Amino acid sequence: MVQVSIAGSTGSVGTQALDVISLNRSLFDLTAIFANSSVDLLAKQANLFRPKLVGIGVDKLARELIKQLDYSPEVVAGDEALVAVAESGDVVLNAVVGFAGLPVTISALESGKRLALANKESLVSAGDLVAKVRFSSSGEIIPVDSEHSAIHQAMRSSFFTDVEVSKIILTASGGPFRGKNRESLAEVTLEEALAHPTWSMGPKITVDSSTLMNKGLEVIEAHELFGIGYDKIEVVVHPQSMVHSIVEFTDGSAIAQISGPDMRLPIAYALGYPSRLKQAFGALDWKQSRLLEFEAPDTENFPALPFAFEVGLRGGGAPTWLNAANEVAVAAFLASRIRWIDIYAMVRASFERYQDTELDSIDDVLNIDSEARRATRSIIEKL
Ligand code: MG
Repeated sequence: MVQVSIAGSTGSVGTQALDVISLNRSLFDLTAIFANSSVDLLAKQANLFRPKLVGIGVDKLARELIKQLDYSPEVVAGDEALVAVAESGDVVLNAVVGFAGLPVTISALESGKRLALANKESLVSAGDLVAKVRFSSSGEIIPVDSEHSAIHQAMRSSFFTDVEVSKIILTASGGPFRGKNRESLAEVTLEEALAHPTWSMGPKITVDSSTLMNKGLEVIEAHELFGIGYDKIEVVVHPQSMVHSIVEFTDGSAIAQISGPDMRLPIAYALGYPSRLKQAFGALDWKQSRLLEFEAPDTENFPALPFAFEVGLRGGGAPTWLNAANEVAVAAFLASRIRWIDIYAMVRASFERYQDTELDSIDDVLNIDSEARRATRSIIEKL
């Protein structure tokens, strides 16, 4: 039995992971779960799966949580809860949204866990630090992000990836606004931004998909995960979301991972690694005729993508700043305080204030992150 811990169990990835576990009860045992504030759902999940440890981020909800539990697990609240969950079990799924997931990534790797990583922001924000912990411990990362899972799977077809990979091609659905021009993009609404054409995901990542910032963050994530130079990473738009990414090798062969857009597949892959589960998710009917299209991304109307390449190349604390500024701008958009086109404008304006900083410690990361948040908030307030 693989002992699984889930940080962020009540979100989109967390609930789908519990679905995978409930369909494979003979393989997986849920040992710890954490949610920040969704106390009702957390208690319900705990009562169903009976993990030994239940963590809640918001301190004052602990009492309510205990009241709703019909058994007596260890309950941890506040900042320690994330770390306690990250230090439990064999496999830790980091499904926390945003920068808040960083302690899970660091603690899980430090304790030598297999980290099933759905929280790309921790890799983007603290790449150098995560790399240090990852390569000095017995911990390892199996990506849950569908594109990176696809790359991870395709890489398994090569023995000497360091010399045989010629490029990584990340696919992007293009989001709900693909094909729109500048004038119509100025008018798009929150509701339209939240209606993703192919994937069902949480609000933050859905908005990131609409600006292509999600793909930009994924470029940085791919660079960090696979140690591939930015000159070898390409993005193509593939509206059907069936080819989840491609690795091209030096001999011209390209290996792609193909399935329907179902997040349970990359989640199950990461939980079960190195084995594949018997339970299929997103398997296609190959006799059905279908069209798979590929095209270049529209970098003029979706400038977040080329900007992320620029920021990634700059390295150090630059991606930390980008991620923080983006989280603040997306939150302001979700709260209907700014327009969709302002998201990128705010991130860009905020980034002007960034001064090159190396990431030597977790404090460096926290400092840049909070400075970037302050700067972005003050720019939004002046809007
Ligand atoms: Mg993705």
